[in-house]
Amino acid sequence: MNEPTVFQNDLIKTEAGTPSIAKKGSLLLRLIRAAQPITRTEIANRLEIDKSTVTENVKPLIAAGILREETLEVSGQGRKPRVLSFVDENDYFIGVNLGVRTSQVGMTTLKGEITDEDDYTTPPDAETALRMARERIDYLIKKNAGKICRVIGVSVPGLTDAERRKLIYAPNLDWRDVDIVKALQPNENVRVVVENDATAAAMYEARLKIRDLSGAGLMTNFVLVRSGTGIGVGLVIGSEVYRGSGLGRGIAGEFGHMTIVAGGKSCVCGNRGCWEKYASAASAASLYTGDRPLRPNETLPRFVEIVSKAENGEIRAQRTLEKIGDFLGIGIANVIMGVGISRVIISGRLVYGWKFIEKPLHEAIERSIIGKIEGWRVEAGEPQGAAIGGALEVAVEEYLSHGLNF
Ligand SMILES: [Zn+2]
Repeated sequence: MNEPTVFQNDLIKTEAGTPSIAKKGSLLLRLIRAAQPITRTEIANRLEIDKSTVTENVKPLIAAGILREETLEVSGQGRKPRVLSFVDENDYFIGVNLGVRTSQVGMTTLKGEITDEDDYTTPPDAETALRMARERIDYLIKKNAGKICRVIGVSVPGLTDAERRKLIYAPNLDWRDVDIVKALQPNENVRVVVENDATAAAMYEARLKIRDLSGAGLMTNFVLVRSGTGIGVGLVIGSEVYRGSGLGRGIAGEFGHMTIVAGGKSCVCGNRGCWEKYASAASAASLYTGDRPLRPNETLPRFVEIVSKAENGEIRAQRTLEKIGDFLGIGIANVIMGVGISRVIISGRLVYGWKFIEKPLHEAIERSIIGKIEGWRVEAGEPQGAAIGGALEVAVEEYLSHGLNF
């Protein structure tokens, strides 16, 4: 994969073209977390602000025991740099990813290491699924007695309400109106935040990009397409996730159910021809078997099995993945046209088949009107972001975006 390129339109700009200082206050914390240990000079350069402004901002955080600054031990002569990082001995975060097939619960600290990850098959009913998640949350809280659980982040495969408390509708699980906070909040001191899984994966990818970029500003505008059992789309605009506005808050990015084939395959949402019936990792199985009814005792191949057959040279598996790439590209061109963001990251199980998907995907975009525009880019992200990584990112983001005031 190529190194990430920073396009001019990925830099954060206000209307006047200058990044605002207020915005940079929350970005400062994100940058320290993503790139720690980091020097004040590097922060100043990356955010394009004075070093004295950095010092002004980090001083109270050091005094409050949230950040620490220490001398970095480097080999060789010369001045040893002083670097900032989060103090994370006492705080932790829990993530719950409620997936259509499997769910995960795990924890992390502000240093970013994921621990205690537990993976289990998602039961069909919401009540049991949440009870199982709650048991694991209670276990982690008991195990970490003496430390503070700051936030629990929950990623769900569907629409959330404006307050990010409830799952309104998850088509692939057929769950409706589930009060996640009520079911999972261990006590009133712990905040629980619910987020759409594609948005959660987008937050995760945004942090990786902040970490990996050096020198030139901060990300970013990008679209994240999460393709697994279904397709979800997360939107990051000006380094913030976009969830929609007004009554539509929590709904933005539901492109998985845009119609891509008129009168096409019927979808769990009640419509026909939805994008996710043709370009999700799960749709590969029925494409592979030619959409015929299953024989007795026959099961559909898993996506990773199709990928491994393709890697072993099986033509049918290769054609299946190419077809998925074509449909994915058709939908992505529509998304790029709709939101006007030219950078796309693919996440979820589909990434495992990227080698076969990439070319037909690019060809489909080239055929569209987007193909006439310079600078669009589609790349594969990290599979982890679509699972526990995204849920944990939701938790930590919630903590940082509130200026650590709770
Ligand atoms: Zn649908």
